[in-house]
Amino acid sequence: MMRRFCAYADKVFDLGRWLAALTDSRTRPRIPTAAAFVCGLILVVTRRGGLNALEQDLRLPGRLRGLVGPRPPSVDSVGRIYAGMDSPPLRRDLADIAHRLKPNKALIGIEGRYVAAIDGHEFFSSRKRCCPRCQTRTLTIDGQPVTESSHQGVVCHLIGEDLALALDVELLRPGEGEQTTALRLLKRVFAAYPRFFDVVVADALYFDAPFINFCIDRNKHVIVTAKGDHRLLVQDAKGLFAHQPPGRWVDAKGKGTVDFWDEEGFTSCEGVKRPLRVMRTEETVRRRERIAGRWEETEATTTWSWATTLSKRQMSSRGLWRSGHGRWDIENDCFNTLAAHWGLDHCFKHEPTAIVNFLLTSLIAYALLQVFYLRNLKPAARSGLTLIGLARELDRGLVGCRAPWAGSLARAP
Ligand SMILES: [Zn+2]
Repeated sequence: MMRRFCAYADKVFDLGRWLAALTDSRTRPRIPTAAAFVCGLILVVTRRGGLNALEQDLRLPGRLRGLVGPRPPSVDSVGRIYAGMDSPPLRRDLADIAHRLKPNKALIGIEGRYVAAIDGHEFFSSRKRCCPRCQTRTLTIDGQPVTESSHQGVVCHLIGEDLALALDVELLRPGEGEQTTALRLLKRVFAAYPRFFDVVVADALYFDAPFINFCIDRNKHVIVTAKGDHRLLVQDAKGLFAHQPPGRWVDAKGKGTVDFWDEEGFTSCEGVKRPLRVMRTEETVRRRERIAGRWEETEATTTWSWATTLSKRQMSSRGLWRSGHGRWDIENDCFNTLAAHWGLDHCFKHEPTAIVNFLLTSLIAYALLQVFYLRNLKPAARSGLTLIGLARELDRGLVGCRAPWAGSLARAP
């Protein structure tokens, strides 16, 4: 399976060419940068968890030679090379995946529009290790102040797709707020993906004029969660909707109903260059729960509000609702799945550049793995195999596997 995965990644995404373009800061490298990157890729797709889990296989030179070249690096070297690796080529590879998938109709969008979400995430925290780029906070434990260091970042991620596809990631600088990081991230994403998507979805933290105008100025639409009773726009919408009967649809899965109010032309969001549309929903979900030994039907209602620059003609209420909730993809799919099963929240090496490069490697590896799973494996093969099962199969095929790029790694860069 590993040989097939490598052959697929090389044929469809030209992985061999990517590998040749990777660089790092060493002046006279003995081991190609790509050898270290392939080790990172292997770590993620086989779910080895940490660098040390690869140590045994790297020590026996014959084992991974077909994947990483004739001189397998030690795990220490992998960490060191990652700390000096240039991130732009890795970001280009991530963009390359997305750009190759789009014309292949692997991406469908929402009502013909491609929608990207941004969201903050804490990747890991530690009370033992830190680096000059850590965010720090002081906790009180047993009456004593304890300093905790962490690395947080913002991820830009495509939503509404079968694939959980991240477009880029940016880490918060020490003392920096998430919004500042997000703007830096978006500037880079807009440049790398100029016409790839035209809607940005963000949570209530981004419900302000500077952010909405930033997107308007770059010809992107915005959907933000509209929260805060003190906000004029929220008050205005509430006032108007109080006198209107809601529209309603039944959730596709038949488990609940959505009542919605959706109006355009609100000008009360201070400083925003354009009138906004506001949609409010009251969503009721029925659940069968076992309470004190008996099955009982319970109901839970949640309310949501979004503000957007998209008109009703540009996106239906249903589409806006899907996009607004699509942000859950980033919470559920991307972060939770990647964190829980694919090592996103694991610190492979606590060094600022290595952290970014390992994150980018995880996003690349996870994208390749999903594409291989969904588009190369036949439905029959998939039916009995989860993505985690696939990782196990890949691990089994690791030793002695020969990848198409093995020959090119034999030459010193
Ligand atoms: Zn740190």
